[in-house]
Amino acid sequence: MVWGWKHISADQRKDPEHLKASYRTSDELGTTMSTSTPMKRQYSELKKQYPDCLLMFRLGDFFELFNEDAKTASHVLDIVLTSRGEGVDKWPMCGVPFHAAEGYVAKLLQAGYTVAIAEQVEDPAKAKGLVKRDIVRVITPGTVLEPSMLQETANNFLVALVEHEGKVGLAAVDVSTGEFIATQFEGTMTGEKTLNELARLTPSEILIPESVSRKAEKSALENTGARLTPRNDLDFSSSSADERLREQFHVSTLEGYGLRDLKAAIGAAGAVLAYVQEVHRTNAPTLTGIRSFTVEDFMVVDSITQRNLELVRNARDGTLRGTLLSVLSATVTSMGKRKLKQWMLQPLRNPHEIEMRLDSVDELARNGLVRQGLIDSFRQLGDLERMTSRIAFGAATAKDLVTLKDTLGRLPSAKKALEDCSSQVLKTAAESIDLLSDLRATLQSAVVDDPPATIREGGMICQGYSKELDDLKASISSDKKWIASLQERERRRTGIRTLKVGYNKVFGYYIEVSHANLSMIPDDYERKQTLTGGERFITPELKEKEASVLSCEDRINELEYEIYEGLRSKVQVHTSALHRDSDAIAVVDVVAALADVAVKRRYVRPRISTSTRIKITNGRHPALEMMLGPNEFVPNSLDIGEGGTTLLIVTGPNMAGKSTYMRQAALIVLMAQMGSFVPAKDADIGLVDRIFTRVGAFDDLTARQSTFMVEMIETANILNNATEKSLVILDEIGRGTSTFDGMALAWAVAEQIVMMRTRTLFATHFHQLTEMAKLYHGVKNVHTLARESGDVIVFLHKVAEGGTDRSYGVHVAALAGVPEPVVKRAKEMLLRLERENVVELGFRADASGEALQTSLEPLTVDDPLIERILNMDLERTTPLDALTRLKDIQEEIRQRKT
Ligand code: ADP
Ligand code: MG
Repeated sequence: MVWGWKHISADQRKDPEHLKASYRTSDELGTTMSTSTPMKRQYSELKKQYPDCLLMFRLGDFFELFNEDAKTASHVLDIVLTSRGEGVDKWPMCGVPFHAAEGYVAKLLQAGYTVAIAEQVEDPAKAKGLVKRDIVRVITPGTVLEPSMLQETANNFLVALVEHEGKVGLAAVDVSTGEFIATQFEGTMTGEKTLNELARLTPSEILIPESVSRKAEKSALENTGARLTPRNDLDFSSSSADERLREQFHVSTLEGYGLRDLKAAIGAAGAVLAYVQEVHRTNAPTLTGIRSFTVEDFMVVDSITQRNLELVRNARDGTLRGTLLSVLSATVTSMGKRKLKQWMLQPLRNPHEIEMRLDSVDELARNGLVRQGLIDSFRQLGDLERMTSRIAFGAATAKDLVTLKDTLGRLPSAKKALEDCSSQVLKTAAESIDLLSDLRATLQSAVVDDPPATIREGGMICQGYSKELDDLKASISSDKKWIASLQERERRRTGIRTLKVGYNKVFGYYIEVSHANLSMIPDDYERKQTLTGGERFITPELKEKEASVLSCEDRINELEYEIYEGLRSKVQVHTSALHRDSDAIAVVDVVAALADVAVKRRYVRPRISTSTRIKITNGRHPALEMMLGPNEFVPNSLDIGEGGTTLLIVTGPNMAGKSTYMRQAALIVLMAQMGSFVPAKDADIGLVDRIFTRVGAFDDLTARQSTFMVEMIETANILNNATEKSLVILDEIGRGTSTFDGMALAWAVAEQIVMMRTRTLFATHFHQLTEMAKLYHGVKNVHTLARESGDVIVFLHKVAEGGTDRSYGVHVAALAGVPEPVVKRAKEMLLRLERENVVELGFRADASGEALQTSLEPLTVDDPLIERILNMDLERTTPLDALTRLKDIQEEIRQRKT
């Protein structure tokens, strides 16, 4: 991490006071720490500007925190709380060594704090009085650049939201990669659409206008897991935002970015930019442009569906194991890994764009040599995207320059491999790779191969790059040689054979002589330090050489730093080109990965259409088939939509493969629309605008709230938002309540879905639902096959036509060792309940399926009373007559009861 502090000067290195207290001079701190000390005044000034941040104040080799900040930090970081000063002026204090600050800052961010870094901004050696300090950076979760605080495989988005005339403006930036996007849509800040976009972007920080202080909105946004940061409303105003953005991109209008008249989007983008500029205290050099998009471009994959389909995290332990991402992640670069995740979480809806991606995957799948060549040439690439941003922000070290140089060195072979490709996506990528050969040559000649992690201590620049630097190094080396040979010379001159020449940080160079030989020292030795075993001396000549070495070292370090800064600005000029390079590499990396997986796993290219038919022949679950042994996975087919079946009711015993069957359908659709081949023998995919998935309470192990309530909220959401273009997966909804409640709800939901004509796979253990197929057009039953022999059942995992009325729960109980009499009794009860259920719900309907009437069990009792009632001629009975007869019947029944 480089926050731009000045390094300790040579003078300080020699100053024992400094090393002891880590402060440049004792008057900075003041002996009493009264408010009148300059340091304390300086601190208070800075703290006033950033009252909400933990202020880390650079003092020598430490970052110190004071007062409330110190109490908080010592608690969070588990470091000792000390204090400075006396009485009322006693300040609580704690500190961390500057070279280890990054880890501590990361912890503070994680704990929900924002950190402001106050650095020395002038050379302490040259400062008169107190060293000037200023805030060089504010570190927030959404704006970090340090690799240790970022996830390699995920973007780190900062999002801004604003509402403007019924529209939501949303902008997102990843300063670590330079990606900057904006959109607007109808809705509210916490509406469905907004939350879906947030689920896709998973930002670590969200900016909202200060005036939005409604609690409900705040908590809805905080539920996304992001830090909420209120900002001045003015930052979001479209006019000031427009100007800010134009200035940043050096353009006279934002039209070229497709942002014309998108006031809400511009407002949000402006707020993002203002914030980045403020916390980085620069004009955000990595942000060289913005991309507008519309949410309709992408298939909606909300957070619940992400979870249910186990796209990036599995349901069991939250890791990658068993996820779609783990199946597809054959990418080899960091930017490719992030891009793959983006493609997966935002599948496309435009058939043309999907076909373009599929064409490129197809090409690399067919051409194994080119594919392997690309993968090999990418394997060694550094994180070009983030490297570029660190360099642009001035947060890079010389190591970054070396990695950049190496990465640029590998571009020609990648570009060459791509030049033979004919698909549009790959050709475009090849064209946009700028080799930047001059830049590479400069870096090659300027930076040593293994520079130190610091940028203020020299050792970075090659010999031959700067004459001035070479001269300085030559002169220092002659002085050093002189010092190196001093020991030998002095031993000869004094005759003391144990005499030693040494160096120590506090005292500098010295000549050490043991007590026994003190009588032999020459006159020009000046005593410097007394040790237990001897004395240390210095000579005027050694003093002179030492001063020369130290000042020369300072000058060398300074010059190296200047050269480094020059190189850095040379790189900065190419920020846009470097971002284009890394984007091209990312795309090719993802395409190559998808092709590689397609070949290895025998996926096929899906046919994409705008019809609503989804026809999958012998589809497989991409993650499960990998976890099972070869040929253990049983493929299954599906055909829904386009005038045929829209609601598929899936029944079958537990553990027979219902959930797997439905999820694999959703995964195959999602894979197709992200541009991937799919695990099937053949697939026609009628484009899907959104995948909804709801999993019943019992299957949903992660749910913590009232599971049934959650289930119903989610179901309501589907009924309100699904369209004919959506795909809905309902997995055993209605389990969280009583049987009849649940069955009635499941039935009603299914009926509604039939009306909506939304393609739906509905697994249920309420086999009464299979009746629907008789009542409604577009409903079909399938069931998972199980073979039963005696009390043993074998799940075949094969999906077959027709419903099943068996749940095999009793068989499973027997298998599990439930005692025989209990199983027997359960079987009897099952039969009885099944009969009664029909009576209870009485699902009967006429051909139109509209009237659902209640049927009665046949009367089995012969009774003259019943005959009499049946024989009444109601046509000729007046109401009064009827009442009189009813009264008679009541009377008779009462008499017979007693
Ligand atoms: P259900 O939802 O019907 O209870 P699941 O879909 O959860 O059943 O499947 C249960 C288990 O059966 C899975 O974990 C898997 O091990 C196995 N399984 C499911 N489908 C298949 C299949 N098509 N081929 C092989 N094994 C399968
Ligand atoms: Mg299941």
